Amino acid sequence: MALIVQKYGGSSVADAESIKRVAKRIVDTRRAGHDVVVAVSAMGDTTDELLELADEVAPIPAPRELDMLLSSGERISMALLAMAIHSMGFEARSFTGSQAGMITDSQHGAARIVDVTPIRLREALDEGAIVIVAGFQGFNRDTRDITTLGRGGSDTTAVALAAALDADVCEIYSDVDGIFTADPRVIPKAQKLDHVSSEEMLELAANGAKVLYIRAVEYARRHGVLIHARSTFSSAEGTYVLGEGMKNPREAEGAVMEEPIVAGVATDFSQAKITVAGVPDVPGKAAEIFKIVAKSGANVDMIVQNVSATGRTDISFTVPKADAAAALKALAGDQTEVGFQNLIHDDQIGKLSVVGAGMRTHSGVSATLFEALSAGGINIEMISTSEIRISVVLRDTDLTEAARTVHTAYGLDGDAEATVHAGTGR
Ligand code: ASP
Ligand code: MG
Repeated sequence: MALIVQKYGGSSVADAESIKRVAKRIVDTRRAGHDVVVAVSAMGDTTDELLELADEVAPIPAPRELDMLLSSGERISMALLAMAIHSMGFEARSFTGSQAGMITDSQHGAARIVDVTPIRLREALDEGAIVIVAGFQGFNRDTRDITTLGRGGSDTTAVALAAALDADVCEIYSDVDGIFTADPRVIPKAQKLDHVSSEEMLELAANGAKVLYIRAVEYARRHGVLIHARSTFSSAEGTYVLGEGMKNPREAEGAVMEEPIVAGVATDFSQAKITVAGVPDVPGKAAEIFKIVAKSGANVDMIVQNVSATGRTDISFTVPKADAAAALKALAGDQTEVGFQNLIHDDQIGKLSVVGAGMRTHSGVSATLFEALSAGGINIEMISTSEIRISVVLRDTDLTEAARTVHTAYGLDGDAEATVHAGTGR
């Protein structure tokens, strides 16, 4: 008998029918003899709808009230799920984040979990109940207010519960079958991975893969939680995300796993490029520029600086599209002080990343990427690398084609087209 934490995303509990289907799945796990703790997201697009409502009544809603509002979405789904389980003859108890002991810092809208004290959950488990917890929310001890963890935060709730309860596995259910070598909506020949290391998953998530939420993967990595990403719509096994030194459960069953050099290809349409042109080529200018950008709240990703021939240089960097306006405004405000000549904003870019732990020990991985792009006649505008990732910025109109070409070049294409269930991938 194991303790299993399961997380169901919004698309898995979108309506009454889906809630009943999820309830059945939970009951089946219970029937198999396991203790079950469930973290649940708000139904379907509830969170987006609540955000729109808030926007209609106030241009800048008070963060405290916004968290009160948004946290209600998960309270609806948790109670309905518990009721559905009751009607199948099983004992279930729902808990809000604060009842579950999800203690966070006080940052509304992006709170971080600082402690988990699942006393009531343990009591309920001891009494034989199935435990349902509202995802995405917590409680701050100093302000005594409800907080939310940021979009997609229910994944983190599930992982934090798994860590605190020392669960055997944290199963994250969504409308995709697991983690793929690429987004199957972009690349139909993408294949489901048997497993992926948590460091590879972090790079994939940070570079556009949406199947798992990055903070949840970080939390799992830090606390040694085994994640199993799988589909609500099928009983097929999904993908294991393995932390350092973690054994693949399928290997324990005797399967032999080969380690590919490249785990996957990620695509990201969400970035914009800003070029600060004609920057005086003297020490300290990059520091000035990125201090201004940081103060605007923009999150910088890739940076390139051209060589200067004339005593002036261009510095280009990428930021999320949503941050670009603030960064441009801040830079324009300090143009005279910094002494650059002009600003160029380009939001028609796409970013392609190739991720694989095998890059550490294999040569020629980047050459394969550049050759594939060159054969496809695709122009590269920026390049950046980490130990296990190579990213390039391209025209956004080239990104899908580039991703397909590169996926093929690394031998990642599957024989059959991946099944894509209608939905959002969450
Ligand atoms: N309901 C929240 C959101 O849509 C949290 C989650 O789904 O994980 O972002
Ligand atoms: Mg949601």
